[in-house]
Amino acid sequence: MQDYLQNLLQQRQQAHLYRTRLVHDSPQTPVLTINGQQILNFCSNDYLGLANHPQLKIALQQGVEKYGVGSGASHLVNGHTQAHHDLEQQLAAFVGRERALIFSTGYMANIGIITGLLGRNDAIFLDKWDHASLVDAALLSRAKLYRYAHQNFAQLENHLATSKEIHKLIVTDGVFSMDGDLAFLPQLVELAEKYHAWLMVDDAHGLGVLGETGRGSVEYYQLNATDVPILMGTLGKAFGVAGAFVAGSELLIETLIQTARSYIYTTALPPALAVTLQTSLNLVSTETWRRQRLHTLIHYFCQQAKLKQLVITNSITPIQPIILGDAERAMRVSQQLLQQNILVTAIRPPTVPQGSARLRITLSAAHTESQIDYLLESLHKILNL
Ligand SMILES: *Cc1c(COP(=O)(O)O)cnc(C)c1O
Repeated sequence: MQDYLQNLLQQRQQAHLYRTRLVHDSPQTPVLTINGQQILNFCSNDYLGLANHPQLKIALQQGVEKYGVGSGASHLVNGHTQAHHDLEQQLAAFVGRERALIFSTGYMANIGIITGLLGRNDAIFLDKWDHASLVDAALLSRAKLYRYAHQNFAQLENHLATSKEIHKLIVTDGVFSMDGDLAFLPQLVELAEKYHAWLMVDDAHGLGVLGETGRGSVEYYQLNATDVPILMGTLGKAFGVAGAFVAGSELLIETLIQTARSYIYTTALPPALAVTLQTSLNLVSTETWRRQRLHTLIHYFCQQAKLKQLVITNSITPIQPIILGDAERAMRVSQQLLQQNILVTAIRPPTVPQGSARLRITLSAAHTESQIDYLLESLHKILNL
């Protein structure tokens, strides 16, 4: 085994795909402490700057006072507290659905939803750029997997027309996590209707960020619960805490309580986190200036990047990739940025397609214009523009 592992790691290294973890020692804020140094952070998913919010810290402490630390059991045994229950109701109301069900992570939510709904005789349709957790869920469900090229709806329609399986589920990221572009949901809604398929949106990066009131990509396109009957959202990104949920009809949620194995066979999220998430949801709904500030900064970033001849995409979300092509170059630029005390991770295959290694810059409402200026000036120099 040792030889095999040594070999495997060597191959990864030679292909510039070896992954290491960065250790930091501070809250998730725009400036991180790494080895005692202050480093400017442009790779967090804490889009609204809530992860270190004083009200959330107090809520967590109060939650611990009331409920202690561990939930002690799964939801179906006796781990389901009033705090979890209230959170589910508040989340359902927020996204305008009958009910919601919370999971410990987004990865687990996707596994549970998809394997809980589909089996051997069914079909699932995934965009090539859908999140890894959706691909894993599809494989685990044993449903027939149809993948279509990114946003290629003609190919999707072709798959839908030829599939003979009983139930069809189309699943898409609301905002694609590595490119920051939006799924064109109206088209997917139309195709789902035409071919009697169900539609599920994973809105990990849209929820809290998009739409007037932060209800995500579904709100952005002014769609409703009939258009998108299965909505999944995560609570560790814009919500600044941890966890995830699925929202939909009474029947959908009751079914998943019976069938979603990653819901049933796991210890419930600590109740204090459910308490914290209620406060977080309240902040996401009421502190609308955070969303506005984030979009102001996104606009500023794009405008200034163009002035500096940086090639950006047309992403309107806090995810702003700079595509560099080969993995080695992406790694080198990321390291050069770090020498300037700027942290931007290089994203390489297999997370993104071959030849599209990139810097994945993410913005937060907590950043300042001068921090963005410093990032862009440094990039301008490093890339010799
Ligand atoms: C982050 C992410 C997930 C996983 O959520 P976690 O709570 O981090 O497990 C699922 N889907 C998408 C699109 C994501 O970006």
